[in-house]
Amino acid sequence: QGKEVPYDPEQLRKISEHPCYSDKACHAFGRCHIPVAPKCNIQCNYCIRDFDCVNESRPGVTSKVLSPEESLDLVRRVVKDYPYVKVVGIAGPGEPLANPETFEALRLVHEEFPHLIMCISTNGLVLPESIEELAKYDVGNVTVTLNAIDPAIGEKIYSWVEYNGKKYHGREAAELLLSQQLKGIEMAVAKKMFVKINTVYIPGVNDEHIPEIAKKVGEMGAFTFNVIPLIPQYKFAGITPPTPKEKREMQDRCAPYIKQMRHCARCRADAIGKLGQDVQSCVYREQGK
Ligand code: SF4
Ligand code: SF4
Repeated sequence: QGKEVPYDPEQLRKISEHPCYSDKACHAFGRCHIPVAPKCNIQCNYCIRDFDCVNESRPGVTSKVLSPEESLDLVRRVVKDYPYVKVVGIAGPGEPLANPETFEALRLVHEEFPHLIMCISTNGLVLPESIEELAKYDVGNVTVTLNAIDPAIGEKIYSWVEYNGKKYHGREAAELLLSQQLKGIEMAVAKKMFVKINTVYIPGVNDEHIPEIAKKVGEMGAFTFNVIPLIPQYKFAGITPPTPKEKREMQDRCAPYIKQMRHCARCRADAIGKLGQDVQSCVYREQGK
């Protein structure tokens, strides 16, 4: 498999309590997503924006948005009532790094609960400029959705990206996004963050290309790779998604290059609890939200 990153023992101990990074931990430990990030800075051709960011979750639910202070309150209640929750993550409902509230929430939670594992997911567009601040709040786990390492394929997947107040389209948008993603992954690995790559499996668009993505990120030192079957909507509404068998076969093709995550539950941006045993409806009900 790919490049070995010299993690220290404390990091490896922590990761053994992250349900998404360790398939053993997913039965014993849980995560609490705090939905503080509604805006997004790109347009994926499989996303209709009415729901949670589908790079990390499944559509069909819209998570409510909390302020950073409300999120801190939520985390206080969750760690008290559900002590098996060891991870606080931000996965939407939009792009975490495009919302200043993400950083404020990370700061507040990390200050009060320094022992919790801090985790974010991102499309990677502003990852390079965010790395220092993420490191400051001890964010040790970063998921980057990377659907292509060839801009000719990327331009079929993204309609536009908005960077520093300017909107880019077509090949230019795909090139900019890709260069930022690769730079961000490299910087995160250099900081010894655990990097998970999500790749949406889009038949007829990037499917033949996915093992190359796995190879590249394995060589860069990413920790694990998560193949996500397309949910056909928006411009890709007419594409037939891969079957579970095709997904497994794709994971097998990628496995020589990087460890595969095979237990992703496609959680909501406000998920709380163990994977597949969410308790957020109880928590939010008690909180009167
Ligand atoms: Fe939708 Fe997430 Fe893509 Fe933004 S990054 S367009 S929220 S899937
Ligand atoms: Fe973990 Fe997958 Fe859920 Fe993200 S969507 S928290 S990777 S199980």
